[in-house]
Amino acid sequence: MNLRESIERISGVKLSACYQCGTCSGGCPIVEMMDVAPSKGIYRLQRNDSSVLDATTLWLCAACFTCDTRCPRGLRISAVMEAARALKLRKNIDHLRPESLNAESYAHMPPITMIAAFRKYTG
Ligand code: SF4
Ligand code: SF4
Repeated sequence: MNLRESIERISGVKLSACYQCGTCSGGCPIVEMMDVAPSKGIYRLQRNDSSVLDATTLWLCAACFTCDTRCPRGLRISAVMEAARALKLRKNIDHLRPESLNAESYAHMPPITMIAAFRKYTG
């Protein structure tokens, strides 16, 4: 089973339904802090590009569901994020450490993002 199939199986989301309109990225409240915007992450997964699994985006996503409610194709992007995190956590390593964030990040990052990220950062 390749990466795309694994993500689809865990999330229940059909990645091919995405037509790259960018609405999910446009409405994400923390997209500017992400290294890979949600729509770009979906694009990479459609192509079995595993580089998206190394994106900090997975750990910054606050699971606010804004993208899910706005996607015109009904994709649950937050479920895709969760599936990608699950694949990474199975490797049982840490992906975000409090000391790795600088003062500027702490000053500007919404509290919900920080809480979500630290809740999920350890493998
Ligand atoms: S909003 Fe939906 S269709 Fe548009 S880019 Fe995001 S996942 Fe794809
Ligand atoms: S669920 Fe994650 S990716 Fe979607 S809008 Fe919220 S923070 Fe952004």
